[in-house]
Amino acid sequence: MEKKLYPACDKCGKLVCVAFGLQAEEKINLEDAPPFCPMKLHPDVIESTLPEYDKEDIQKLARLSSLQEAECYELKPEGLKPTKPRVEEIIGFARKMEYRKLGIAMCLGLQSEARIMSSILEIKGFEVVSVGCKLGAVPKERIGLKPEEKIMPAEMYEPMCNPITQAEVLNAEEVDFVILMGMCVGHDTLFIKYCRAPMTVLSTKDRVTGHNPLAALYTSNTYYGFLKNP
Ligand code: SF4
Repeated sequence: MEKKLYPACDKCGKLVCVAFGLQAEEKINLEDAPPFCPMKLHPDVIESTLPEYDKEDIQKLARLSSLQEAECYELKPEGLKPTKPRVEEIIGFARKMEYRKLGIAMCLGLQSEARIMSSILEIKGFEVVSVGCKLGAVPKERIGLKPEEKIMPAEMYEPMCNPITQAEVLNAEEVDFVILMGMCVGHDTLFIKYCRAPMTVLSTKDRVTGHNPLAALYTSNTYYGFLKNP
């Protein structure tokens, strides 16, 4: 049976969509794209989604984020240089979008980092609301965890992460934009599902790499090689 093709940009060596060196008035040659290219597999989706960018609010978001992206580089004679850390990128984007009230949704494990971030944002003129993951003080038993499934000894109180309430508090505060900091995998999934404000991620959580999850990939040929074992 013929194997079904599915999009696999991660395996593409052609990068026809990027088309380095192409002039603005030239068109890409789709023929050169690999058979698993989503531009070949899903032309109808590409066609039907583009009009979304014509909606006024969506176009503003798309245009200003691309403008912000461009400001994060400097084209020098010696090459393209990145110029801004993500903290600055977020500030620049929030200013462009004229967001005034920002929400920080954080893991309490990153409370001190969130405090630094909120003080920077306040200095830059934003109003900041921050909500930690344990708000509500709800024991983990409430979501069906057995005492022995907690992190701490079974007899100890252990509050659950409460991303739904975190999201709803920020919804109630009517923040313009939310910045996620260090939320656990899955808890962030729920937060994203329930938060109605537009959001971005300043940092994910990685307990062993100083919140740099890609470190495990960068070292996957050496120290984290065991990740490649089935
Ligand atoms: S969209 Fe097509 S050309 Fe671009 S990276 Fe993916 S597979 Fe390659």
